[in-house]
Amino acid sequence: MADKITQHTSESDASLTPRQLKGAPAITCILPAYNEAENLKVMIPLLCEYLPRLSERFELLVVDDGSRDATSAVAIALAESYPVSLIRLSRNFGKEAAMSAGLDHADGDLVILMDSDMQHPVEVLEEFYQHWLEGYDMIYGIRSDRSDEHPIKRRLTRYFYHMLSQSADVEIQADAGDFRMLDAKVVRALRALPERKRMMKGLFAWVGFRSIGVPFQVNPRFSGQTSFGIRRLSSLALTGITAFSSTPLRMWMFIGAGISLLSITYAVVIVLRTLIWGVDVPGWPTLVAGIGFLGGVQLLSVGVLGEYVARIFSEVKARPVYLISDHHPLRPEMKRDAE
Ligand code: UDP
Ligand code: MG
Repeated sequence: MADKITQHTSESDASLTPRQLKGAPAITCILPAYNEAENLKVMIPLLCEYLPRLSERFELLVVDDGSRDATSAVAIALAESYPVSLIRLSRNFGKEAAMSAGLDHADGDLVILMDSDMQHPVEVLEEFYQHWLEGYDMIYGIRSDRSDEHPIKRRLTRYFYHMLSQSADVEIQADAGDFRMLDAKVVRALRALPERKRMMKGLFAWVGFRSIGVPFQVNPRFSGQTSFGIRRLSSLALTGITAFSSTPLRMWMFIGAGISLLSITYAVVIVLRTLIWGVDVPGWPTLVAGIGFLGGVQLLSVGVLGEYVARIFSEVKARPVYLISDHHPLRPEMKRDAE
């Protein structure tokens, strides 16, 4: 098997060449938004105040992921005075799909992905941008502190990433999230991936490119509450495992081999005992325990198989990752093309 593909995070990299700019780069900032009307009212003006420090040519792309509140209305109203465009999905497809929709429609030289709930601090973007100028293609935020999370969630997350990094063929960083700055070529690479059930964090790691992590402190949510409950998180975790590792499939071979070996040894012992000492076989508790154990193991392994089959099924159906119901492009007077 090929060596693990690791994201590159060394501070000084001799292979980097500083970017040669021909004028200010066009920046597209993607904001996936699900019921974020209140947050967007603050987030959009804040970004529009901040982004000119990086480049005057910027645009915000709000992806309304089937919100039930006034998210789209707020984005459309703000588009009167700020460079905002909006894509409205036909229903709630989930954050991974919303980000994919954003990436498919982002035409900047540089694309920023961030949450629209103010949890990702805009101040870090300048550091991201400096790294992009140095030649990095993907710059991602690393959560320096998870103390805001419930200890059980923190522990489960740690176990999950540990397990994933043991078995997956790409190194998916535990504390790196979806807060990222991507060069246009990374965006092109991501667009070319045809997977339908997407775990973006895994895909970011899979595409590679020169990447670097920047630690940041997660802010508390400005308004509203998280939509990632235990069910969504575990479903994302399952997608992550089935998409990036085949260890759960393979491990049954070893477990099966181990159990068979034990059974054979046990059978030999019984035969010998009967032949040599003539002990009759008082066997039913052993039988019940054995059958119960094997039944459990078999169901578990069929379940794992089922997970992968379900994944194949959803990929084979080839339904689109998301559907767009409306697209409000940038208002012409908001366009800031290169002079
Ligand atoms: N989000 C989305 N679709 C969803 C759920 C969330 O586009 O179905 C967006 C949400 O509006 C926010 C980002 O994804 O901008 C992160 O979501 P959230 O704050 O709920 O997750 P957390 O920060 O707790 O991981
Ligand atoms: Mg959030």
